[in-house]
Amino acid sequence: MTSTNSAKSGPPGASPSVSYWQQPPDPIADLRSSSDLPQDVDLVIVGSGISGSSIAHHLLNEKPELKIVMLEARQAASGASGRNGGHTKTATYRSFLENVQEVGEEDAVKVSKLEYDCMVAVHDFIKQQGMDCDAKQCDTVDIFYDQGHLDEAKIAVAKMEKLIGPSHPCSHHTFYTPEETRKNFFCEDSLGSIKYDAGSLSAYKLTVGILKLALEKGLNLQTTTPATSITKQASEHGKSTWTVSTPRGEIRTPTLVLATNGYTAHLYPKLQDVIVPFRGVVTAQRPGSSVAHQGDLPTTYSFVYKEGYEYMITRPAIDLPSTTTPATNGTSTFTTTANLSPNTYDIVIGGGLTKTANQGSGEFHTIDDTSSSIPSSIIDYLNTTPADFFGAANWGTDHALGRIKHVWSGIMGYSADGHPLVGPMPGEEGLWIDASFQGHGMVLCWLCAKAFVEMLLGRDGTELKTWFPDCFRVTEERLGKRFSGRLVGREIGEAQTVNGFDGN
Ligand SMILES: Cc1cc2nc3c(=O)[nH]c(=O)nc-3n(C[C@H](O)[C@H](O)[C@H](O)COP(=O)(O)OP(=O)(O)OC[C@H]3O[C@@H](n4cnc5c(N)ncnc54)[C@H](O)[C@@H]3O)c2cc1C
Repeated sequence: MTSTNSAKSGPPGASPSVSYWQQPPDPIADLRSSSDLPQDVDLVIVGSGISGSSIAHHLLNEKPELKIVMLEARQAASGASGRNGGHTKTATYRSFLENVQEVGEEDAVKVSKLEYDCMVAVHDFIKQQGMDCDAKQCDTVDIFYDQGHLDEAKIAVAKMEKLIGPSHPCSHHTFYTPEETRKNFFCEDSLGSIKYDAGSLSAYKLTVGILKLALEKGLNLQTTTPATSITKQASEHGKSTWTVSTPRGEIRTPTLVLATNGYTAHLYPKLQDVIVPFRGVVTAQRPGSSVAHQGDLPTTYSFVYKEGYEYMITRPAIDLPSTTTPATNGTSTFTTTANLSPNTYDIVIGGGLTKTANQGSGEFHTIDDTSSSIPSSIIDYLNTTPADFFGAANWGTDHALGRIKHVWSGIMGYSADGHPLVGPMPGEEGLWIDASFQGHGMVLCWLCAKAFVEMLLGRDGTELKTWFPDCFRVTEERLGKRFSGRLVGREIGEAQTVNGFDGN
Protein backbone atom coordinates (compact mmCIF):
# COMPACT_ATOMS: atom_id res chain seq x y z
CA MET A 1 0.00 0.00 0.00
CA THR A 2 1.38 3.40 -0.88
CA SER A 3 0.34 6.74 0.46
CA THR A 4 -0.81 8.38 -2.75
CA ASN A 5 -2.85 11.19 -1.26
CA SER A 6 -1.59 14.29 -3.01
CA ALA A 7 -3.42 16.80 -0.81
CA LYS A 8 -1.33 19.90 -0.25
CA SER A 9 -0.09 20.67 3.22
CA GLY A 10 -2.23 23.43 4.70
CA PRO A 11 -1.94 25.85 7.62
CA PRO A 12 -2.76 24.74 11.18
CA GLY A 13 -6.54 24.35 11.55
CA ALA A 14 -8.46 26.85 13.67
CA SER A 15 -10.26 24.38 15.99
CA PRO A 16 -7.92 21.63 17.11
CA SER A 17 -8.94 18.97 19.60
CA VAL A 18 -7.96 20.03 23.11
CA SER A 19 -5.26 17.73 24.39
CA TYR A 20 -5.15 16.19 27.84
CA TRP A 21 -2.03 18.27 28.54
CA GLN A 22 -3.67 21.60 27.68
CA GLN A 23 -6.19 21.26 30.52
CA PRO A 24 -6.01 23.87 31.79
CA PRO A 25 -4.31 26.02 29.12
CA ASP A 26 -1.34 27.97 30.42
CA PRO A 27 -1.84 31.70 31.09
CA ILE A 28 0.46 32.52 28.12
CA ALA A 29 -1.63 30.39 25.70
CA ASP A 30 -3.14 33.50 24.06
CA LEU A 31 -0.29 35.94 24.66
CA ARG A 32 0.49 38.76 22.28
CA SER A 33 3.56 40.50 23.66
CA SER A 34 2.63 43.73 21.87
CA SER A 35 -0.72 44.84 20.50
CA ASP A 36 0.83 45.69 17.11
CA LEU A 37 3.16 43.52 15.11
CA PRO A 38 6.66 44.96 14.94
CA GLN A 39 7.48 45.76 11.30
CA ASP A 40 11.25 45.20 11.10
CA VAL A 41 13.06 42.72 13.32
CA ASP A 42 16.35 40.82 13.41
CA LEU A 43 14.70 37.43 13.23
CA VAL A 44 11.24 35.92 12.82
CA ILE A 45 10.49 32.43 14.07
CA VAL A 46 7.30 30.85 12.75
CA GLY A 47 6.03 28.18 15.17
CA SER A 48 5.90 28.09 18.99
CA GLY A 49 6.47 24.35 19.47
CA ILE A 50 9.48 22.95 21.28
CA SER A 51 11.66 23.68 18.21
CA GLY A 52 10.79 27.37 17.87
CA SER A 53 10.85 27.87 21.65
CA SER A 54 14.21 26.16 22.08
CA ILE A 55 15.75 28.19 19.24
CA ALA A 56 14.49 31.42 20.82
CA HIS A 57 15.80 30.35 24.22
CA HIS A 58 19.27 29.26 23.04
CA LEU A 59 19.63 32.36 20.86
CA LEU A 60 18.47 34.95 23.40
CA ASN A 61 20.70 33.37 26.04
CA GLU A 62 23.65 34.37 23.91
CA LYS A 63 22.34 37.45 22.11
CA PRO A 64 19.77 39.16 24.35
CA GLU A 65 20.03 42.27 22.16
CA LEU A 66 18.32 40.52 19.21
CA LYS A 67 14.79 41.58 18.31
CA ILE A 68 12.94 38.32 17.75
CA VAL A 69 9.26 37.89 16.89
CA MET A 70 7.63 34.47 17.11
CA LEU A 71 4.44 33.95 15.12
CA GLU A 72 2.05 31.20 16.14
CA ALA A 73 -1.07 30.39 14.14
CA ARG A 74 -3.05 29.13 17.14
CA GLN A 75 -2.47 29.15 20.90
CA ALA A 76 1.12 28.87 22.15
CA ALA A 77 2.50 25.33 21.91
CA SER A 78 -0.67 23.97 20.37
CA GLY A 79 1.02 21.95 17.61
CA ALA A 80 2.53 18.51 18.13
CA SER A 81 4.43 19.73 21.20
CA GLY A 82 1.19 20.44 23.06
CA ARG A 83 -0.54 17.23 22.10
CA ASN A 84 1.88 14.34 22.06
CA GLY A 85 2.31 11.09 23.99
CA GLY A 86 4.79 12.49 26.54
CA HIS A 87 7.39 9.78 25.96
CA THR A 88 11.08 10.71 26.11
CA LYS A 89 12.17 7.52 24.43
CA THR A 90 14.92 6.93 21.89
CA ALA A 91 14.36 3.37 20.59
CA THR A 92 17.16 3.97 18.10
CA TYR A 93 17.94 0.25 17.95
CA ARG A 94 14.86 0.06 15.73
CA SER A 95 16.31 2.38 13.08
CA PHE A 96 20.00 1.62 13.62
CA LEU A 97 20.51 -1.05 10.92
CA GLU A 98 18.64 1.03 8.38
CA ASN A 99 20.67 4.11 9.30
CA VAL A 100 23.97 2.24 8.98
CA GLN A 101 22.92 1.15 5.51
CA GLU A 102 21.63 4.55 4.39
CA VAL A 103 23.85 7.15 6.06
CA GLY A 104 26.85 5.09 7.15
CA GLU A 105 28.18 3.93 10.50
CA GLU A 106 29.49 7.30 11.68
CA ASP A 107 26.19 9.12 11.27
CA ALA A 108 24.13 6.16 12.52
CA VAL A 109 26.16 6.25 15.74
CA LYS A 110 25.78 10.05 15.98
CA VAL A 111 21.98 9.78 15.60
CA SER A 112 21.74 7.24 18.44
CA LYS A 113 24.01 9.26 20.69
CA LEU A 114 22.23 12.53 19.93
CA GLU A 115 18.80 11.10 20.80
CA TYR A 116 20.07 9.68 24.08
CA ASP A 117 22.02 12.83 24.97
CA CYS A 118 19.02 14.98 24.09
CA MET A 119 16.77 12.91 26.35
CA VAL A 120 19.22 13.35 29.24
CA ALA A 121 19.78 17.05 28.48
CA VAL A 122 16.03 17.76 28.51
CA HIS A 123 15.53 16.06 31.87
CA ASP A 124 18.65 17.79 33.30
CA PHE A 125 17.41 21.17 32.07
CA ILE A 126 14.00 20.61 33.67
CA LYS A 127 15.69 19.77 36.99
CA GLN A 128 18.05 22.75 36.80
CA GLN A 129 15.20 25.16 36.10
CA GLY A 130 12.91 23.50 38.64
CA MET A 131 10.25 23.33 35.92
CA ASP A 132 6.97 21.65 36.77
CA CYS A 133 6.67 19.29 33.80
CA ASP A 134 5.63 16.00 35.46
CA ALA A 135 9.03 14.76 34.29
CA LYS A 136 10.19 11.28 35.24
CA GLN A 137 13.32 9.40 34.18
CA CYS A 138 12.80 5.66 34.23
CA ASP A 139 13.26 2.49 32.21
CA THR A 140 11.13 1.70 29.21
CA VAL A 141 10.23 -1.72 27.89
CA ASP A 142 9.25 -2.79 24.38
CA ILE A 143 7.06 -5.89 24.47
CA PHE A 144 7.25 -8.01 21.30
CA TYR A 145 4.40 -9.95 19.73
CA ASP A 146 6.23 -10.54 16.44
CA GLN A 147 9.25 -12.78 16.07
CA GLY A 148 10.64 -10.87 13.08
CA HIS A 149 10.81 -7.61 15.02
CA LEU A 150 12.34 -9.34 18.03
CA ASP A 151 15.00 -11.05 15.91
CA GLU A 152 15.83 -7.77 14.20
CA ALA A 153 16.08 -6.04 17.59
CA LYS A 154 18.68 -8.57 18.72
CA ILE A 155 20.76 -8.07 15.57
CA ALA A 156 20.52 -4.29 15.88
CA VAL A 157 21.50 -4.23 19.56
CA ALA A 158 24.50 -6.47 18.82
CA LYS A 159 25.56 -4.06 16.07
CA MET A 160 25.13 -1.04 18.38
CA GLU A 161 27.23 -2.72 21.05
CA LYS A 162 29.93 -3.41 18.47
CA LEU A 163 30.00 0.05 16.88
CA ILE A 164 29.28 2.20 19.94
CA GLY A 165 30.68 0.07 22.73
CA PRO A 166 29.70 0.13 26.40
CA SER A 167 31.05 3.63 27.07
CA HIS A 168 27.94 5.39 25.77
CA PRO A 169 24.68 4.38 27.48
CA CYS A 170 22.69 4.55 24.23
CA SER A 171 24.02 1.05 23.48
CA HIS A 172 22.79 -0.43 26.78
CA HIS A 173 19.78 -2.75 26.44
CA THR A 174 18.54 -5.80 28.38
CA PHE A 175 16.46 -8.57 26.80
CA TYR A 176 13.86 -10.56 28.74
CA THR A 177 12.27 -13.94 28.03
CA PRO A 178 8.47 -14.29 27.79
CA GLU A 179 8.36 -15.58 31.38
CA GLU A 180 10.54 -12.72 32.69
CA THR A 181 8.38 -10.28 30.74
CA ARG A 182 5.25 -11.64 32.40
CA LYS A 183 6.78 -11.37 35.88
CA ASN A 184 8.54 -8.01 35.52
CA PHE A 185 6.21 -6.12 33.23
CA PHE A 186 2.82 -7.84 33.77
CA CYS A 187 2.32 -8.64 30.07
CA GLU A 188 0.96 -12.02 29.06
CA ASP A 189 1.56 -13.86 25.79
CA SER A 190 4.56 -11.91 24.55
CA LEU A 191 7.58 -13.36 22.73
CA GLY A 192 9.94 -11.38 24.96
CA SER A 193 10.93 -7.80 25.65
CA ILE A 194 13.79 -5.32 25.73
CA LYS A 195 14.45 -2.70 28.40
CA TYR A 196 16.49 0.54 28.21
CA ASP A 197 16.62 4.10 29.61
CA ALA A 198 13.77 6.54 28.88
CA GLY A 199 11.35 8.85 30.64
CA SER A 200 8.14 10.81 30.37
CA LEU A 201 6.96 14.39 30.76
CA SER A 202 4.34 16.93 29.79
CA ALA A 203 5.77 18.33 26.57
CA TYR A 204 3.17 21.11 26.76
CA LYS A 205 4.44 22.30 30.14
CA LEU A 206 8.05 21.94 28.98
CA THR A 207 7.47 24.00 25.82
CA VAL A 208 5.54 26.67 27.68
CA GLY A 209 8.31 26.73 30.31
CA ILE A 210 10.97 27.28 27.64
CA LEU A 211 8.81 29.98 26.02
CA LYS A 212 8.53 31.81 29.33
CA LEU A 213 12.32 31.85 29.69
CA ALA A 214 12.63 33.32 26.19
CA LEU A 215 9.89 35.88 26.95
CA GLU A 216 11.83 37.00 30.01
CA LYS A 217 14.80 37.63 27.70
CA GLY A 218 12.74 39.78 25.32
CA LEU A 219 11.03 37.41 22.87
CA ASN A 220 7.95 38.98 21.27
CA LEU A 221 5.34 36.20 20.99
CA GLN A 222 2.30 36.72 18.78
CA THR A 223 -0.27 33.93 19.12
CA THR A 224 -3.27 33.43 16.81
CA THR A 225 -1.22 35.13 14.12
CA PRO A 226 -0.64 32.75 11.21
CA ALA A 227 2.07 33.48 8.67
CA THR A 228 0.11 33.27 5.45
CA SER A 229 2.97 33.72 2.97
CA ILE A 230 6.67 34.48 2.82
CA THR A 231 8.47 36.40 0.08
CA LYS A 232 12.08 37.27 -0.54
CA GLN A 233 13.34 40.65 -1.79
CA ALA A 234 16.90 41.71 -2.58
CA SER A 235 17.62 44.71 -0.35
CA GLU A 236 19.63 47.83 -1.22
CA HIS A 237 22.77 46.28 0.27
CA GLY A 238 22.47 43.22 -1.94
CA LYS A 239 21.28 41.12 1.02
CA SER A 240 17.95 39.36 0.98
CA THR A 241 15.07 40.47 3.15
CA TRP A 242 12.09 38.25 3.90
CA THR A 243 8.59 39.60 4.25
CA VAL A 244 6.21 37.52 6.30
CA SER A 245 2.54 38.27 5.68
CA THR A 246 -0.09 37.74 8.36
CA PRO A 247 -3.75 38.86 8.67
CA ARG A 248 -2.45 41.50 11.12
CA GLY A 249 0.17 43.01 8.83
CA GLU A 250 3.64 42.28 7.48
CA ILE A 251 7.01 41.84 9.15
CA ARG A 252 10.37 42.23 7.43
CA THR A 253 13.47 40.40 8.55
CA PRO A 254 16.84 39.33 7.16
CA THR A 255 16.52 35.96 8.94
CA LEU A 256 13.41 33.84 8.77
CA VAL A 257 13.18 30.57 10.70
CA LEU A 258 10.52 27.99 9.86
CA ALA A 259 9.91 25.86 12.95
CA THR A 260 6.63 24.73 11.49
CA ASN A 261 7.13 20.95 11.48
CA GLY A 262 4.29 19.14 9.62
CA TYR A 263 2.89 22.39 8.21
CA THR A 264 6.10 23.67 6.60
CA ALA A 265 5.21 22.99 2.96
CA HIS A 266 2.23 25.31 3.27
CA LEU A 267 4.60 28.28 3.64
CA TYR A 268 7.41 26.93 1.50
CA PRO A 269 5.92 24.79 -1.27
CA LYS A 270 9.31 23.46 -2.38
CA LEU A 271 8.92 21.15 0.64
CA GLN A 272 5.65 19.69 -0.62
CA ASP A 273 5.98 15.89 -0.22
CA VAL A 274 9.46 16.41 1.29
CA ILE A 275 7.92 17.01 4.73
CA VAL A 276 4.56 15.30 4.95
CA PRO A 277 1.99 15.88 7.70
CA PHE A 278 0.92 12.79 9.59
CA ARG A 279 -1.85 12.64 12.19
CA GLY A 280 -1.36 10.71 15.42
CA VAL A 281 -4.03 9.85 17.99
CA VAL A 282 -3.51 9.56 21.75
CA THR A 283 -5.86 8.62 24.60
CA ALA A 284 -5.73 9.06 28.37
CA GLN A 285 -7.21 6.07 30.17
CA ARG A 286 -8.08 4.81 33.63
CA PRO A 287 -6.18 1.65 34.53
CA GLY A 288 -8.03 -1.53 35.52
CA SER A 289 -8.25 -2.44 39.20
CA SER A 290 -5.39 -4.96 39.32
CA VAL A 291 -2.95 -2.94 37.25
CA ALA A 292 -3.88 0.07 39.38
CA HIS A 293 -3.07 -1.89 42.53
CA GLN A 294 0.53 -2.13 41.38
CA GLY A 295 0.77 1.56 42.19
CA ASP A 296 2.32 3.45 39.30
CA LEU A 297 3.92 1.12 36.76
CA PRO A 298 7.73 1.03 37.03
CA THR A 299 8.44 1.58 33.33
CA THR A 300 6.99 3.17 30.24
CA TYR A 301 5.95 0.77 27.45
CA SER A 302 5.74 0.13 23.74
CA PHE A 303 3.86 -2.85 22.34
CA VAL A 304 5.28 -4.04 19.04
CA TYR A 305 3.38 -6.35 16.69
CA LYS A 306 3.81 -7.26 13.06
CA GLU A 307 2.06 -4.34 11.44
CA GLY A 308 2.13 -1.68 14.13
CA TYR A 309 2.88 -0.52 17.64
CA GLU A 310 1.49 1.44 20.57
CA TYR A 311 3.41 3.65 23.02
CA MET A 312 2.36 4.20 26.61
CA ILE A 313 3.34 6.14 29.71
CA THR A 314 1.68 6.53 33.07
CA ARG A 315 1.41 9.72 35.09
CA PRO A 316 -0.43 10.96 38.18
CA ALA A 317 -4.16 11.12 37.45
CA ILE A 318 -5.70 14.50 36.69
CA ASP A 319 -9.27 15.61 36.98
CA LEU A 320 -10.51 16.88 33.67
CA PRO A 321 -13.05 19.69 33.67
CA SER A 322 -16.58 18.36 33.42
CA THR A 323 -17.06 20.66 30.44
CA THR A 324 -14.87 18.39 28.35
CA THR A 325 -16.71 17.69 25.11
CA PRO A 326 -18.18 14.20 25.21
CA ALA A 327 -16.77 12.05 22.45
CA THR A 328 -18.90 9.59 20.59
CA ASN A 329 -17.89 6.88 18.25
CA GLY A 330 -19.54 4.04 16.46
CA THR A 331 -19.08 1.14 18.81
CA SER A 332 -17.37 2.22 22.00
CA THR A 333 -19.34 3.25 25.04
CA PHE A 334 -16.82 5.57 26.69
CA THR A 335 -17.47 9.18 27.55
CA THR A 336 -14.92 11.86 28.27
CA THR A 337 -16.64 12.98 31.42
CA ALA A 338 -14.88 14.34 34.48
CA ASN A 339 -12.95 11.83 36.51
CA LEU A 340 -15.43 11.75 39.39
CA SER A 341 -13.69 8.99 41.27
CA PRO A 342 -9.97 9.57 40.74
CA ASN A 343 -7.71 6.68 39.95
CA THR A 344 -4.15 7.11 41.24
CA TYR A 345 -2.59 7.33 37.81
CA ASP A 346 -3.62 7.77 34.21
CA ILE A 347 -2.42 5.70 31.30
CA VAL A 348 -1.51 7.77 28.24
CA ILE A 349 -1.43 5.51 25.19
CA GLY A 350 -1.18 6.37 21.50
CA GLY A 351 -0.85 4.50 18.24
CA GLY A 352 -3.37 2.29 16.48
CA LEU A 353 -2.28 3.78 13.17
CA THR A 354 -2.85 0.64 11.16
CA LYS A 355 -6.35 0.07 12.53
CA THR A 356 -8.21 2.29 10.06
CA ALA A 357 -10.00 0.90 7.01
CA ASN A 358 -7.11 2.07 4.81
CA GLN A 359 -4.50 0.72 7.25
CA GLY A 360 -3.40 4.17 8.25
CA SER A 361 -2.57 5.63 4.86
CA GLY A 362 -5.27 8.29 5.38
CA GLU A 363 -3.41 9.65 8.40
CA PHE A 364 -0.64 10.92 6.13
CA HIS A 365 -1.15 14.21 4.31
CA THR A 366 -3.80 15.33 6.76
CA ILE A 367 -3.61 18.47 8.87
CA ASP A 368 -7.01 17.95 10.48
CA ASP A 369 -6.52 17.57 14.24
CA THR A 370 -10.10 18.37 15.24
CA SER A 371 -11.92 16.04 17.67
CA SER A 372 -14.57 15.08 15.17
CA SER A 373 -12.04 13.90 12.58
CA ILE A 374 -10.38 11.26 14.76
CA PRO A 375 -11.09 7.85 13.17
CA SER A 376 -13.41 5.88 15.46
CA SER A 377 -11.60 2.66 14.50
CA ILE A 378 -8.44 3.99 16.16
CA ILE A 379 -10.35 5.07 19.28
CA ASP A 380 -12.12 1.71 19.50
CA TYR A 381 -8.83 -0.11 19.14
CA LEU A 382 -6.98 2.02 21.73
CA ASN A 383 -9.91 1.48 24.10
CA THR A 384 -9.17 -2.26 24.14
CA THR A 385 -5.40 -2.41 23.88
CA PRO A 386 -4.03 -1.80 27.40
CA ALA A 387 -6.33 -4.44 28.86
CA ASP A 388 -5.45 -6.84 26.04
CA PHE A 389 -1.71 -6.33 26.38
CA PHE A 390 -1.76 -6.78 30.16
CA GLY A 391 -4.22 -9.69 30.05
CA ALA A 392 -7.48 -10.04 31.99
CA ALA A 393 -5.88 -11.14 35.28
CA ASN A 394 -3.29 -8.37 35.34
CA TRP A 395 -5.77 -5.72 34.23
CA GLY A 396 -8.59 -6.57 36.68
CA THR A 397 -11.96 -4.88 36.41
CA ASP A 398 -12.52 -1.63 34.58
CA HIS A 399 -12.93 1.62 36.48
CA ALA A 400 -16.59 2.46 37.09
CA LEU A 401 -16.32 5.39 34.67
CA GLY A 402 -14.83 3.25 31.91
CA ARG A 403 -11.41 3.27 30.37
CA ILE A 404 -11.04 6.27 28.08
CA LYS A 405 -10.93 9.61 29.78
CA HIS A 406 -9.88 11.78 26.88
CA VAL A 407 -8.94 11.49 23.18
CA TRP A 408 -7.00 13.96 21.07
CA SER A 409 -4.94 14.11 17.91
CA GLY A 410 -1.99 16.05 16.55
CA ILE A 411 0.04 16.54 13.40
CA MET A 412 3.62 15.34 13.03
CA GLY A 413 6.04 16.07 10.18
CA TYR A 414 7.59 13.12 8.34
CA SER A 415 10.41 13.16 5.81
CA ALA A 416 11.27 10.55 3.22
CA ASP A 417 14.45 9.45 4.97
CA GLY A 418 13.01 9.73 8.48
CA HIS A 419 15.44 12.44 9.60
CA PRO A 420 14.75 16.07 10.57
CA LEU A 421 15.80 18.98 8.33
CA VAL A 422 17.97 21.40 10.30
CA GLY A 423 19.85 24.46 9.04
CA PRO A 424 19.99 26.99 6.21
CA MET A 425 17.88 26.35 3.13
CA PRO A 426 20.23 25.86 0.17
CA GLY A 427 20.04 28.71 -2.35
CA GLU A 428 17.74 30.83 -0.13
CA GLU A 429 19.80 33.40 1.72
CA GLY A 430 18.26 34.19 5.10
CA LEU A 431 15.80 31.28 5.14
CA TRP A 432 16.35 28.61 7.79
CA ILE A 433 14.45 25.50 8.73
CA ASP A 434 14.21 23.29 11.80
CA ALA A 435 11.44 20.78 11.19
CA SER A 436 10.29 17.22 10.52
CA PHE A 437 10.84 15.54 13.86
CA GLN A 438 8.63 12.53 13.12
CA GLY A 439 7.38 11.02 16.40
CA HIS A 440 10.68 11.65 18.20
CA GLY A 441 10.68 15.38 18.90
CA MET A 442 11.13 15.00 22.63
CA VAL A 443 14.51 13.35 22.09
CA LEU A 444 15.56 15.46 19.10
CA CYS A 445 14.28 19.05 19.16
CA TRP A 446 16.22 20.49 22.10
CA LEU A 447 19.66 19.48 20.78
CA CYS A 448 18.74 20.11 17.14
CA ALA A 449 17.78 23.66 18.20
CA LYS A 450 21.15 23.97 19.89
CA ALA A 451 22.93 22.84 16.71
CA PHE A 452 20.72 25.17 14.68
CA VAL A 453 21.76 28.16 16.79
CA GLU A 454 25.43 27.19 16.45
CA MET A 455 24.98 27.28 12.66
CA LEU A 456 23.03 30.54 12.79
CA LEU A 457 25.80 32.20 14.84
CA GLY A 458 28.45 31.07 12.36
CA ARG A 459 29.92 28.34 14.53
CA ASP A 460 29.35 25.49 12.15
CA GLY A 461 32.80 24.03 12.65
CA THR A 462 34.65 20.99 13.92
CA GLU A 463 33.01 20.92 17.38
CA LEU A 464 29.52 20.71 15.93
CA LYS A 465 30.62 18.04 13.52
CA THR A 466 31.68 15.81 16.44
CA TRP A 467 28.07 15.30 17.55
CA PHE A 468 25.62 16.62 14.96
CA PRO A 469 24.79 14.10 12.20
CA ASP A 470 25.33 15.24 8.61
CA CYS A 471 22.16 13.40 7.65
CA PHE A 472 20.09 16.03 9.55
CA ARG A 473 21.40 18.91 7.43
CA VAL A 474 19.38 20.37 4.58
CA THR A 475 20.89 19.44 1.23
CA GLU A 476 19.62 19.64 -2.35
CA GLU A 477 19.79 15.85 -2.44
CA ARG A 478 17.46 15.54 0.55
CA LEU A 479 15.13 18.18 -0.88
CA GLY A 480 14.79 15.95 -3.93
CA LYS A 481 13.56 12.97 -1.91
CA ARG A 482 9.78 12.68 -2.02
CA PHE A 483 7.84 10.80 0.62
CA SER A 484 6.18 8.04 -1.34
CA GLY A 485 5.35 5.41 1.22
CA ARG A 486 4.42 4.99 4.81
CA LEU A 487 6.05 3.65 7.90
CA VAL A 488 5.03 0.30 9.21
CA GLY A 489 5.83 -1.75 12.26
CA ARG A 490 8.09 0.92 13.66
CA GLU A 491 7.87 3.14 16.66
CA ILE A 492 6.46 6.41 15.39
CA GLY A 493 9.29 8.46 14.03
CA GLU A 494 11.81 5.74 13.56
CA ALA A 495 13.46 6.15 10.27
CA GLN A 496 12.17 3.55 7.93
CA THR A 497 10.44 4.41 4.74
CA VAL A 498 8.74 1.53 3.04
CA ASN A 499 8.27 2.64 -0.53
CA GLY A 500 5.38 0.94 -2.18
CA PHE A 501 4.50 -1.09 0.91
CA ASP A 502 1.53 -3.22 -0.02
CA GLY A 503 0.25 -4.04 3.42
CA ASN A 504 1.62 -7.56 3.64
C1 LIG B 1 -0.16 12.54 18.56
C2 LIG B 1 1.33 12.71 18.71
C3 LIG B 1 2.05 11.91 19.60
C4 LIG B 1 3.43 12.09 19.74
N1 LIG B 1 4.10 11.38 20.71
C5 LIG B 1 5.42 11.63 20.91
C6 LIG B 1 6.11 11.02 21.98
O1 LIG B 1 5.52 10.31 22.81
N2 LIG B 1 7.45 11.25 22.10
C7 LIG B 1 8.11 12.07 21.22
O2 LIG B 1 9.33 12.22 21.33
N3 LIG B 1 7.46 12.71 20.23
C8 LIG B 1 6.14 12.52 20.08
N4 LIG B 1 5.47 13.19 19.08
C9 LIG B 1 6.23 14.06 18.19
C10 LIG B 1 6.61 15.39 18.85
O3 LIG B 1 5.49 15.91 19.53
C11 LIG B 1 7.09 16.34 17.75
O4 LIG B 1 8.17 15.75 17.06
C12 LIG B 1 7.56 17.68 18.31
O5 LIG B 1 6.58 18.20 19.18
C13 LIG B 1 7.84 18.65 17.19
O6 LIG B 1 8.00 19.94 17.73
P1 LIG B 1 8.07 21.20 16.76
O7 LIG B 1 8.22 22.37 17.60
O8 LIG B 1 9.10 20.94 15.71
O9 LIG B 1 6.66 21.18 16.02
P2 LIG B 1 5.22 21.61 16.58
O10 LIG B 1 5.10 21.37 18.02
O11 LIG B 1 4.22 20.97 15.67
O12 LIG B 1 5.21 23.17 16.38
C14 LIG B 1 5.04 23.78 15.12
C15 LIG B 1 4.19 25.02 15.37
O13 LIG B 1 4.18 25.80 14.19
C16 LIG B 1 2.91 26.41 14.12
N5 LIG B 1 2.71 26.83 12.72
C17 LIG B 1 2.75 26.04 11.63
N6 LIG B 1 2.52 26.77 10.52
C18 LIG B 1 2.35 28.03 10.94
C19 LIG B 1 2.08 29.25 10.25
N7 LIG B 1 1.92 29.31 8.93
N8 LIG B 1 1.98 30.39 10.99
C20 LIG B 1 2.14 30.37 12.34
N9 LIG B 1 2.36 29.23 13.02
C21 LIG B 1 2.48 28.09 12.32
C22 LIG B 1 1.97 25.31 14.57
O14 LIG B 1 0.71 25.81 14.95
C23 LIG B 1 2.75 24.69 15.70
O15 LIG B 1 2.41 25.28 16.94
C24 LIG B 1 4.10 13.04 18.94
C25 LIG B 1 3.38 13.87 18.08
C26 LIG B 1 2.00 13.73 17.97
C27 LIG B 1 1.24 14.64 17.05
